[in-house]
Amino acid sequence: MSDKFDVIVIGGGPAGYHAAIRAAQLGLKTAVIDAFVGKDGKQALGGTCLNVGCIPSKALLDSSKQFYNLAHNLPAHGISVENAKVDLKTFIGRKEKIVKQFTGGVAQLFKANKITSYFGTGKLLGRDKSGGNAVEITGNDGEKQTISATNVILASGSVPIELPFAKFDNKFIIDNAGALELDAVPKRLGVIGAGVIGLELGSVWRRLGAEVTVLEALPDFLGTADADIAKVASKEFGKLGLNIKLGAKLTKAEVKKSEVQLTYNDKDGDHDIVVDKLLVAVGRRAYTDGLLAEDSGVKLDERGRIIVDEHCHTGVDGVWAVGDAVRGPMLAHKGFEEGMAVAEWIAGKAGHVNYDTIPWVIYTEPEIAWAGKTEKQLKEEGIPYKVGSFPFAAIGRAVAMNEAIGQVKMIAHAETDRILGVHMVGPGVSELIAECVVAMEFKGSAEDMARIIHAHPTLSEAVHEAALSVDKRAIHKGN
Ligand code: FAD
Ligand code: NAD
Repeated sequence: MSDKFDVIVIGGGPAGYHAAIRAAQLGLKTAVIDAFVGKDGKQALGGTCLNVGCIPSKALLDSSKQFYNLAHNLPAHGISVENAKVDLKTFIGRKEKIVKQFTGGVAQLFKANKITSYFGTGKLLGRDKSGGNAVEITGNDGEKQTISATNVILASGSVPIELPFAKFDNKFIIDNAGALELDAVPKRLGVIGAGVIGLELGSVWRRLGAEVTVLEALPDFLGTADADIAKVASKEFGKLGLNIKLGAKLTKAEVKKSEVQLTYNDKDGDHDIVVDKLLVAVGRRAYTDGLLAEDSGVKLDERGRIIVDEHCHTGVDGVWAVGDAVRGPMLAHKGFEEGMAVAEWIAGKAGHVNYDTIPWVIYTEPEIAWAGKTEKQLKEEGIPYKVGSFPFAAIGRAVAMNEAIGQVKMIAHAETDRILGVHMVGPGVSELIAECVVAMEFKGSAEDMARIIHAHPTLSEAVHEAALSVDKRAIHKGN
């Protein structure tokens, strides 16, 4: 036994590193084990989010938006640029620099907080003689050692789901990591799944000129979003040139002569298409391979997720689990909050995670954001509600930006006026959703929001007007 800790965290992604830093802040002797290997062969902390998820995808979304705007937004401002080109090496290189900056930043935070960092794979063995939980580390050099802690936090994250008939070869059939580092813009890009990754990364390559065909198995577009918001988004993605086919299930994908030949099935039968690259983005699964000794006592559900209670406790003394590896949405900020809450519960404090106000953001153009319930959910639950909405077309700032697309929709309880959900599509909504989450967290009403002063002219006036509209008193539209 080489060392004894108060807390060992297995997994240094968003959920794990937040847990570790908060535990260290609370005076607990903390270690993190993470296996992620960066491009230089060294440890790269930050998990999926910093290495191949949130941050690199947003870097490419922002770069590709700048390029797309040159031809599609700036001319309306009287600005024209001829022969604009993308240097893909710089485009991808910028993203890689950002990734390195942030993964290195986590390593520095660990140092500053006196967290011991191990590079390798952790396996929960179970109780040891000292009454703690033993964890075996297999270093990336193959060396094994065992350490122990009173508390172990499992934060092993998730990996992309692989379709048995379209296995990743990382050359033609790619996952999110592959789609973040193509060395040329594919002429034809196929995307399986019109979910968050399909729409974000499909947009990146479409904006650079790829012909993008998205096959979505479900008949409805963005079924988890509010139907009005999904309708606007679908129209805008059509204008961008994303060719989204709904109710289209991939049945075969074969790589032949440097092309991928696809067969999909929809209500009209079988269809064949050929693409140069195929991005498979049909969801992610919790990753627990090699994480648990057979007799660790930790249980998995039917989808392979670690079973936990409402306090992220596994039921095994001193063993907790957080982030993508457990139930709930697979979002970095959900993992942040669970990680910090578990550290606080371990330290005897009052941790807190409100699963009802987790915001969702899709960083496409226009952006999509929501928190709380949709109209469909409220109808199913028999909860009486009233709706207010306001279009960005009537917001001076949005028109001045030439981005007057979309709307804010607010749903409040019909009797108490409490805000139950806010749904948005349009410019800057990734930021606008935050004030709605605050209002919902404080159990605010539409009336509260309507009485709060919003600066003029800003995009946030759309939130204010939507709140006024709940009570049929929006100023800049008919009610
Ligand atoms: P992960 O980030 O997956 O980290 C787990 C870490 O544990 C990894 O480093 C892994 O190598 C390591 N590990 C696993 N098993 C072991 C073991 N046995 N021993 C040691 N180490 C181990 N979410 C958002 O909120 N906003 C976004 O904009 C967003 N964009 C995304 C874009 C893409 C392309 C993808 C793929 C995901 C995106 N997500 C986004 C989701 C987000 O990345 C995840 O929800 C988040 O990373 C989950 O955090 P986590 O700590 O639970 O797991
Ligand atoms: P997703 O669940 O968002 O979407 C997957 C889509 O694929 C679904 O619409 C599903 O119906 C479809 N699908 C499944 N099997 C199919 C098949 N055989 N043929 C055609 N379509 C099929 O999953 P994702 O896009 O892979 O992303 C995974 C997770 O990563 C997201 O759920 C989200 O939690 C996280 N993420 C978040 C962000 C963000 O917050 N902006 C960005 C990217 C990823």
